[in-house]
Amino acid sequence: MTERLDYLNAYRQQFDAQVLAIEDRAGVPAVLLDRTCFYPTSGGQLHDTGLLGGVPVIDVVAEEGEVWHLLATSPSFAAGERVVGAIDWPRRYDHMQQHSGQHLLSQLIHQRYGFETVSVHFGREESTLDLNTAETPPAFLSEIEQAANELAYLALEIRAYFVDEQEVRRLPLRRPPAVSGLIRIVEIDGYDYSACGGTHVRTTAEIAPIKLLRLERRRHQTRLTFLCGLRACRDYAEKHRLLTETAGLFSTEIAAVPAMVQRMQAQMRELEHKHMELQRRLLSQETAALVAAAPRVGDVAIVEYLSPDASVEALKQMAALLREQPRCVGLLASTVEGKATLVFCRSDDVVLHVGEVLREALATFGGRGGGRPEYAQGGGAPAAAVAAVLAEARRRCEEALA
Ligand SMILES: [Zn+2]
Repeated sequence: MTERLDYLNAYRQQFDAQVLAIEDRAGVPAVLLDRTCFYPTSGGQLHDTGLLGGVPVIDVVAEEGEVWHLLATSPSFAAGERVVGAIDWPRRYDHMQQHSGQHLLSQLIHQRYGFETVSVHFGREESTLDLNTAETPPAFLSEIEQAANELAYLALEIRAYFVDEQEVRRLPLRRPPAVSGLIRIVEIDGYDYSACGGTHVRTTAEIAPIKLLRLERRRHQTRLTFLCGLRACRDYAEKHRLLTETAGLFSTEIAAVPAMVQRMQAQMRELEHKHMELQRRLLSQETAALVAAAPRVGDVAIVEYLSPDASVEALKQMAALLREQPRCVGLLASTVEGKATLVFCRSDDVVLHVGEVLREALATFGGRGGGRPEYAQGGGAPAAAVAAVLAEARRRCEEALA
């Protein structure tokens, strides 16, 4: 058994203890002590880190009453010796603020809305609690956040003590205890009673500020993400910095940023629209010039077009424009991004199956494609062979139209 000093005083940062055993766990030294301040991962709360005999503690696990400290390197101390331990206090205090905050929030949400906390998770950046509800009222976040901070400012005392199974029945626990025998209770001064082995702050004042970040629907539950204490302060500082920077980019004040962004979005949409319109006009002029200059078989113009950078969309738009012209065949290709793309088309008044022309011309060069008599698309041939594919296609068109 390891005596849990963290149970007696969560604020104790240093201790000395006797080394009971040292084991090798797949190359990682694991140390068992007769007593410890190091909190082992349990009840959703992450383990402590720190130093044991000057060696970094990288993990702490509890195994049937024994607390094992996993070390970064082999220790210079041996079993039977006394050793000094010190926990990483900022990390531990952060865990205490989050954990006490979770108890306060779970009770508050239960009292106000009747939602139960079904699970909790304390992460490195954010903490979450899952509520047994798929729906929350619209003002839920702001109401709970305000009330939780007000409760924090009452500086309600938080105490931990052990009770037996008889006594525990008299306590209004939020959830039934998961363990039997002696049960550790963490009480927020008559407000909340939880069966919990975690480390907690002395009063609710140390939890503030409490910031609720967001709600996410997860099947039949709702996940609430929150920050307490210094985490909330750091988050506020970071968000303030980001907003100030953003406002600076717009040469305006923070309050004007959303309106400014909306205005820019509207301008962007308008510019995009104008850009599309100009592109359409340009394409239409280019297409007309191509048709005028195209060689003819009889009165049918055969437009051949090979671009190194035209998108598939541009080729399709050109094909649509060519199809509006009388007596016209379009053999369009692009080698954009090193890929061969071909789009063939003809006007309705030309008797020719461009789908077959494309399929046959491409097949010679290992490509694939085909389509309807008036429109076809293909690719797969080497980009270097596209000019040859177009020449082959032109030969086939001339033959068919002659
Ligand atoms: Zn707890």
